Amino acid sequence: FVLGFAFVAMSLYIPVVSLTFLAIFFGLINIVGVILLQPNPYALQHQVINLLVFVVIAWYLGIKSNQKTVELWYQNKRQNLLNTQLEDLNKRDSMTRFFNHESILLQMDKAIEDAREKNQALSILMLDIDDFKDINDRFGHQEGDKVILEVAKAIHNSVRDSDLIGRYGGEEFLVLLPETSLENACIVSNRICKAVSQLQFDQITMGISGGLAELLEHSPKQLLSLADERLYQAKKSGKNRIVCH
Ligand code: GH3
Ligand code: MG
Ligand code: MG
Repeated sequence: FVLGFAFVAMSLYIPVVSLTFLAIFFGLINIVGVILLQPNPYALQHQVINLLVFVVIAWYLGIKSNQKTVELWYQNKRQNLLNTQLEDLNKRDSMTRFFNHESILLQMDKAIEDAREKNQALSILMLDIDDFKDINDRFGHQEGDKVILEVAKAIHNSVRDSDLIGRYGGEEFLVLLPETSLENACIVSNRICKAVSQLQFDQITMGISGGLAELLEHSPKQLLSLADERLYQAKKSGKNRIVCH
């Protein structure tokens, strides 16, 4: 009986396969013990029957408790996946899948901390599609949305995977270029500008302007203002260009 209870108790903690081996092992020791100590033939039969009954109960409980564990494990996995998907939905812009306004600013704070900690360069690029109101007015908002998507793709295809892109506003983008000096960031920015200006839409001449800034002693706000100022200069000096310094 003690052995039987031990198996039932163990069934709640030990996987069924290990439990079965344990039951067979201790069961055999038990039976050998009974044969040696009690020559009565009925004692042996009772012992075997008791053992079998308890092993079956232990086995059943083991399967049941493990089923719960497996189900819980699956449930946890599903829940974690849902949570990551939800987190992702909250962080991303639904149209371009880029970071949304709040997230890209948080990413910028992180990137600034990282760059300072590792003593690495960081450049940021503020972009704004040229004459977008015109595009909306002439072709409608739906067509305008398609243009935004194509521009987003062009930006995405012009930068490294490790660069971070956010949809800062309706047709404004903020690109974070970690480990990139102003000089190299200027090359990347001009590549974006060229890729956008080469986009082909019926009767639409595309252009994008940008302001670039490299992190020195700036606070996040100051860095953003500097990029914004340069974007303004790019617009003022004729659009479809990047102001790097
Ligand atoms: P500029 O060259 O000076 O940037 O001129 P602009 O016409 O692009 O001026 P501005 O950047 O101020 O205008 C942006 C316009 O983009 C205004 C707004 O109606 C439009 N817009 C913002 N978000 C969206 C969007 O999600 N879809 C569409 N279709 N239009 C948008
Ligand atoms: Mg704008
Ligand atoms: Mg614009």
